[in-house]
Amino acid sequence: MKNLDKNYNPKSFEDRIYKTWKDGQYFVAKIDENKKPFTIVMPPPNVTGNLHLGHALNNTLQDILIRRKRMQGYSALWVPGTDHASISTEMKVVQKIESEGKTKAELGREEFLKEAWEWTYEYGGNIKNQLEKLGVSCDWSREAFTLDENLSNAVQEVFIKMYKDGLIYRGDRIVNWCVSCGTAVSDAEVVHKDESGQLWHIRYPFKNKEGYIVIATTRPETMLGDLAVAVNPNDERYEDIVGETLVLPLVNREIPIISDEYVEMEFGTGMVKITPSHDPNDFEVGARHNLGQCVVIDEKGYIPEGYGKYSGKERLEARKAIVADLEKLGLLDKIEDHEHSVGHCERCGAVIEPVISKQWFVKMENFAKEALEVYKNGEVNLIPSRLGKVYENWLTGTRDWTISRQLWWGHRIPIYYCDDCGEIIVSKERPEKCTCGSTNLRQDPDTLDTWFSSALWPFSTLGWPEKTPDLEYFFPTDVLVTGYDIIFFWVIRMVFSSLYNMGKVPFKDVYFTGLIRDSQGRKMSKSLNNGIDPLEVIDQYGADALRFTLVTGNSPGNDMRFYMERVEANRNFANKLWNATRFIFMNLDEDNIKNIDDLELENVDKWIISRANNLIKNVDENIDKYEIGLAADKIYDFVWNEFCDWYIELVKTRLYNSDLERSIKAQSTLIHVLDIILKLLHPFMPYITEEIYSIMPNKKDMLINETWPKYESSYEFINEEEKIDIMINAIKSIRNARAELNIAPSKKAELIFSSKDRNSIDTLKELTEHFKTLGGASSVKFLEEDLDENIDAISIVQNKFKIFIPLADLVDYSKELERLEKEAEKLKSEIKRASGKLSNEKFTSKAPEKVVQEERDKLVKYEGMLEEVNSSIEGIKAKL
Ligand SMILES: [Zn+2]
Ligand SMILES: [Zn+2]
Repeated sequence: MKNLDKNYNPKSFEDRIYKTWKDGQYFVAKIDENKKPFTIVMPPPNVTGNLHLGHALNNTLQDILIRRKRMQGYSALWVPGTDHASISTEMKVVQKIESEGKTKAELGREEFLKEAWEWTYEYGGNIKNQLEKLGVSCDWSREAFTLDENLSNAVQEVFIKMYKDGLIYRGDRIVNWCVSCGTAVSDAEVVHKDESGQLWHIRYPFKNKEGYIVIATTRPETMLGDLAVAVNPNDERYEDIVGETLVLPLVNREIPIISDEYVEMEFGTGMVKITPSHDPNDFEVGARHNLGQCVVIDEKGYIPEGYGKYSGKERLEARKAIVADLEKLGLLDKIEDHEHSVGHCERCGAVIEPVISKQWFVKMENFAKEALEVYKNGEVNLIPSRLGKVYENWLTGTRDWTISRQLWWGHRIPIYYCDDCGEIIVSKERPEKCTCGSTNLRQDPDTLDTWFSSALWPFSTLGWPEKTPDLEYFFPTDVLVTGYDIIFFWVIRMVFSSLYNMGKVPFKDVYFTGLIRDSQGRKMSKSLNNGIDPLEVIDQYGADALRFTLVTGNSPGNDMRFYMERVEANRNFANKLWNATRFIFMNLDEDNIKNIDDLELENVDKWIISRANNLIKNVDENIDKYEIGLAADKIYDFVWNEFCDWYIELVKTRLYNSDLERSIKAQSTLIHVLDIILKLLHPFMPYITEEIYSIMPNKKDMLINETWPKYESSYEFINEEEKIDIMINAIKSIRNARAELNIAPSKKAELIFSSKDRNSIDTLKELTEHFKTLGGASSVKFLEEDLDENIDAISIVQNKFKIFIPLADLVDYSKELERLEKEAEKLKSEIKRASGKLSNEKFTSKAPEKVVQEERDKLVKYEGMLEEVNSSIEGIKAKL
C-alpha cells in the first residue's frame, strides 16, 4: 500500500507541487460558455517590492476564494500583476545613481529611464517568486504590469477621452510639494503631525503714516511673497485701516490692506499676511482680490533669484537670516512658542511646502457623485459594511484630483505644447506639426499619478480598450480583496473609472483586510525592527501553516496580531493530519474501499459521515459570508477533535480485527471522510492536501481540479449523531472522574449503567465495545434498578442514566466525596438559575412558550440529578 513519508516536511513537497500545478496549466482560466466566470484581479504590489505579511494575508484570502470557486466548477480567473509605483521606484533609482556620483539632471530623461528599467528587471521578479512560495493559484499567463504596452495605451486612451470630455484641465493650484522627492503629492499622501514651533510677530509699517501693524506667522520666510494683509470685514478694530498701504519689510514692496471673510478675528491679531503662492487659503483670497502670484520658494526649497542676500538660501536658512534682519531693524515684535500641525511627506518625511504650480487635474464633482450612488444603491457591497462610512466621507467635498507628477518614471502625459502659438495638442503620438505650421512642439514633461493607471486595473488587465474575449467574459470582476487604508486612493478611483469607461461597476464585493500587527499590537516597522518576513516563516514552518495562521482568528476589516506560537500550532495541526493519514493508509487495503452507499454502516460510521456532511454546509455558509476565518476554525475542530481524536480511535479495533466485513466499513468511511476533509481544507492548506490526495484511491485528477463537496440531506443521520454524542459525553465523564481520582488509564474497571429508561439501556448496549476501548471498562453491565447502595462505586449522573464504577480498593473515599460535593454545587447553581428565571414574571409572560417549557424541563432534569448525587453522598458518608 502507498503511504506518505514518515515525517511531515513541507520543504520536501511544496515547491515540487507548485511546479506541477503551474506546468500543468491548472491556474489558466479558459473562456467556457458552459461555465460561469469568477474573476478576481490581484491588487498589484510594487514591481520592485518584497513580500510582506500584508501581501501574504491578502493573497491567501484571494487564493482561498479562487480555489474554492475553481473546484465548484466556475471558470475561475485570478489576474496577477505589478504596479510601476512611480514615486517609490523613482526614489530608489535616484538613490542608486546618486551613490554612483551622478544626478538625475546630468543623466537626462532617456538615460534615467534606462536605469529605471534595468532596476525593474533586476528586482521585478522577486515579488513574483515570493508569491509563488505562498502557493497562489493566479493565472500567470495573464500577468500584467502597469507599464505594459496595452496598459499604457489604456492610460492614454482614458486621459484623452477625459480631456476631450472636459473632465481634465490644467490649472494653477497650490499643491502639496515635497522638496525632497521633487514632486507634488496628493492630500492623502500628506501626514499631519502636531509639532512645537514658534510664532513670529512681525511689524509691517504704514506707507503714508506713522506706525505699523503686527502680523503673526509660523513661516516668516514666506513674507517675501506677501501681496496683501487681510482683516475680517466685520472686525470693527480695523474698519478705518482697510485700503491703507503697507511697506513690506526687507523687500520694500507696497501691499494693500484688504478685507476678506476668510480671516478669523480671534486668531493672533486678527490680521493675516496673504501669500498667494505658498498657502492654499491665501491662494483663494489672492484669486478673489486679483493679487497675482509671487513665488519665493522654488521646487527644491530654495529662495529664487531677485531677493538679494536671501536668494540661493535653503528655506530654513533663509528663515534664520530674515528673522535676524528683522530684529536688527527693530521690526520683530516678539517670538512665542506655538504648537501647530505640520504636514510631512508620507514617503520621505520631509516637511511639505505648499507651492503654486501648473498641474493637471481631474474634475471630481460628477465622479464622486457616481461613485457614491453605486455604493448607496448596493451595486458595490463593502465588507465589513461599517467601512461604508469611510467610503462616503471620502466622497463628500472631495477636491479635484491632481494627476500630474514631476517624475520621469511613469506614464508621460500625452499633451504637446506649441512654442510658437501656445496651442495645446492632446495626442497619443507626437504630432508632426501644430495647426499654425510650427514644428516647435514640446511634450509635457510630467507623468501621471500611479493611481491613474491602477484605477483602470480591473479592465485594462483584461485587454481594454480592445474588445477582447477576456473582457467580454470575465468583466465585471466578482470581488476585490484589499486593505482599508486604500479605499480612497484605489477603490473609489476604480469605481468611477470603471463607470466612466465601462458603464459598469468594476466589482460586486470589496473585502477589506485589516493590518497585521506584532504580538504586542504594534505596527510592524523598520524602526521598531519588529517586522516578520513571510519567507522565513515559510522556510521554517511551511506555507500551509503560515496561510492558516493568517486567515484564522481574523475577521474582515479588523487588525490582527501575529504570534509565531500560532504558526507553530497550525504546523502541528498539519502534522496531526499527516500522521492520521499515515495511520489510515497503514491499515488500508485499496481493494477493500467501497462506496459508503453500498454498505450497512455502523453507528459511529454514520455519525462521522453526518458530521462531515454538516461541516460542508458550515464551511460553505461561512465562506459565502466572507467569514473565512470561521470556516477554517470549523475544519480545524472537525479534523482535530471529531475525526482524529474520536472516530479514528473508535474504529482502531475494527481495523486490527479479523472481522473483514466490519473493517471494510471502517476503511471505506475513513476514506470517504478524509476525501471531504482534503477538499474542504485544500483552499486553506493547498500543499499538504494535494500531497495527501496523491495517494488517495479513486482520485481522478490533481486535487486542485477536483469537485468541491456538496451537502447531501441523505447523509444526515440525526439518530446516530445523538447516540454517539451521548456516548462521547459519557466517556468524557468517565475519564474525568477517573482522572480526578488519579486512576491510571491502563487500569480497567467494571462499568455499570443503570436506567429505568428502556431506550437508553438499548443505546448503551449497542455501544458496549466503545466503552471497553475508550472508557476503560473491563466489562459492562446494565441494570434497570439503581445499584445496591452497599457496593462501593464512583457514580456518574448523566441525563437519563447513571454510570457506576465499582472500585473497592482503587479509590480514596474522601476524594470521591469531594468530587460529588462539587458536582452537587454545580447542579444547585443550575437549579438556582433556572428557578430564578421561572419565578421572573417578565420571563414567563414574555418569552415564547417553547422557551419557557425548555427551562421547566431543565429544572426538572437538574433536580432529579441532584437527588441522585445527594443520595450517593449519603452512601459514602455512611461508609466513612
Ligand atoms: Zn518626499
Ligand atoms: Zn502652433
